[in-house]
Amino acid sequence: MSIQQTLFGTMPDGTPIHLYTMSGDGISVSIIEYGARIARLQVDGIDVVCGFDSLEGYLADKDYHGSIVGRYANRIADGKFTLHGKTYQLAHNEVGRAHLHGGNIGYSSRVWDKVSATEEDGADLLTLKLRSPDGEEGYPGTLRIMVTYMRKGNSLSISYSAVSDADTIINLTNHAYFSLGGVGSTVLDQTLTLDCLHFVPVDEKLIPYGTLTHVEDTPFDFRTPKTVGKDIQAPHTQIQIGGGYDHCFVRNGGAELRNPEWIATLYSPKSGIEMQVFTTEGGIQIYTSNFMTAPNPFYGGIPQGKNEAIAMECNRIPDSPNQKNFPSPLLKAGEEYCQTTIYTFQKK
Ligand code: BGC
Repeated sequence: MSIQQTLFGTMPDGTPIHLYTMSGDGISVSIIEYGARIARLQVDGIDVVCGFDSLEGYLADKDYHGSIVGRYANRIADGKFTLHGKTYQLAHNEVGRAHLHGGNIGYSSRVWDKVSATEEDGADLLTLKLRSPDGEEGYPGTLRIMVTYMRKGNSLSISYSAVSDADTIINLTNHAYFSLGGVGSTVLDQTLTLDCLHFVPVDEKLIPYGTLTHVEDTPFDFRTPKTVGKDIQAPHTQIQIGGGYDHCFVRNGGAELRNPEWIATLYSPKSGIEMQVFTTEGGIQIYTSNFMTAPNPFYGGIPQGKNEAIAMECNRIPDSPNQKNFPSPLLKAGEEYCQTTIYTFQKK
C-alpha cells in the first residue's frame, strides 16, 4: 500500500504530467493527469490494460486509451440535441457528422488537476478534478467533475461526481482497453459473461435506432460464459456493422443503480486472470478493438492489432439525449451526478 509519484512527461505548453502508482495485493495501477488516464495496470506483473511508455504515446493516441471520457461518452447523432426547447450543436468529430466521446478536445485530452493522493484504511486513493466551462465543445453549463481512483485489495474502483451550474447532459466513463492475457495477446480466446438481457442495435453510422433487442438467439447472448471470438464473425447484420462487437449491452432497461452491482466477467485462460466488473450504470459498451491499428506501439514496442483488447465502458445508452425510450442523461443545475464502477482481479 503506497502511492508513488514520478514525472511522466511534459505537455507542449510546459505543464508537467505525473504518474501516480498505487500498488499492493498483486495489482499495480498508474494514473496520469492527461485525460485522467489509467496509464498502466498490472496484475501479478502482467500488463492487462493497453497503454504507452511515454506521454507522447498518449498525446498521439486517437483511441482514448485508459482515459476518462466526457462530457458525453459515445455518440450523439449529428452532434445535436435539444434541451428545454433550445437546440445545441456540438462538435462533429467523427465521419458521418456524429459527436463522439465529448468532441475534439474531450475530457480524455484535458489535463486534470490532482486534488489528493492518500492512503486510508488499507486503500490508496487518488482524486483528480476538472472544470469544463459553459460552451466547451458546445455543451451548456459549467461542469465541475471529480474522479477518484481507489486501489483496495485486488480491486480498482472509479468514483465519479459532477455538478453543473446550468441544466446539461452528462455521460462519463473510462475507456481502458483490457487484455487479460497480457498486452499483445488476443481477446478472442477470453471468456465474457454479461448480466445483460438486451443490446442496442445501431445503424451504419453506429447510432442507435432507439430500441433494445433481446439477446436470445443472437451473437450478443453472453448471459452464460462465452468466448469473445465464438460469434464475432457471425453472419448477423449488427456484427457486420460493428466489424465485431461495438455495442451497448443493457441491464434492467438501462436503469441506474444507487450501489454498484455485478455486470460483467472477463477471463483469460492464457494468464488465468479473471476480472469482474460492478457498476451503478445501466449500460456497458463492449468494443472489441475492431479498428485498433494505430502506428504507435504499446509498452516496449508491442504492435497494436485488431481484437487485441476489449473496452468495457460502463455508461449510459449512446445517443440518449435524442432517444425518448432510453433513460435521460439530463443533469439538473446544482444536482449531483454520481457513478461508481469497480474492477476486481483474481488469478484462477
Ligand atoms: C466506440 C467505438 C470507437 C471507440 C474508439 C468506442 O467506445 O464504441 O465505436 O471506435 O470507442 O473511439
